[in-house]
Amino acid sequence: MRNIIIGNWKLHPQSSREARMLARSIAQIASRIKNVDIVIAPPFPFLPLISAGSKVAIAAQDVFWEREGPYTGEVSGPMLRGVGARYVIVGHSERRNHLHETDEIINKKLKHALLSGLRPILCVGERKRDSDGEFFSVIKQQIEIAFAKVKRGDVTRVVVAYEPVWAISSGKSAKAAEPADANEAALFIRKTIAGIYGVRVARGVRIIYGGSSNAKNAKDFLSEREISGLLVGRESRDAKEFIKIIECAYTVS
Ligand code: PEP
Repeated sequence: MRNIIIGNWKLHPQSSREARMLARSIAQIASRIKNVDIVIAPPFPFLPLISAGSKVAIAAQDVFWEREGPYTGEVSGPMLRGVGARYVIVGHSERRNHLHETDEIINKKLKHALLSGLRPILCVGERKRDSDGEFFSVIKQQIEIAFAKVKRGDVTRVVVAYEPVWAISSGKSAKAAEPADANEAALFIRKTIAGIYGVRVARGVRIIYGGSSNAKNAKDFLSEREISGLLVGRESRDAKEFIKIIECAYTVS
């Protein structure tokens, strides 16, 4: 499966000038890279500034579940499409944590994104890893609720990002997962999807890893059988490092 490298800028950078510069540096390299999908997810205000004329696809970091109405502060799928977004991150652990997004809310957002023609990047992952493997039931629940009533024909338009919360760089003692453990979790996610939609559909779903990935460990994750890309936070805001990760995906492809 073709690799996808997604840069999640979170609440950075501070100015549109910096956002444009970062996007431009990434776009320059992207024009030379084949067989890798490259996506950046800037904050909402920067979306229209950097989407035009670049080979890099744009993702929004969030979306609401209604297309219009009395929902102050919210942004809909069609609005995001209108400013050039093709993907949208749904269910990031930072939103689950700080904004109390539940699996049910994430399910509504996922369905709205699909209906709007956006490709959702669904983030799942446990807060803690226990040695008895209890964390697998957390992932199973996140997947099963997120996909509730999602049409079979839409399933492969979703990219599932396995992002163990403890591995995300903002955490106190964050450390990337072991690539083999990430692969095991990705396989588990695929099996869970297969349990709902069957093996054939599940085989077509792109599953990626996120959590303290960088230019040094990217190759190890991308060499794992079940992992077809990376969701990169911190290192995606350093053009040089992000480009190295993209080049790595190109080499292993
Ligand atoms: C993320 O927040 O999606 C992420 C993977 O962050 P980082 O790469 O900084 O751990």
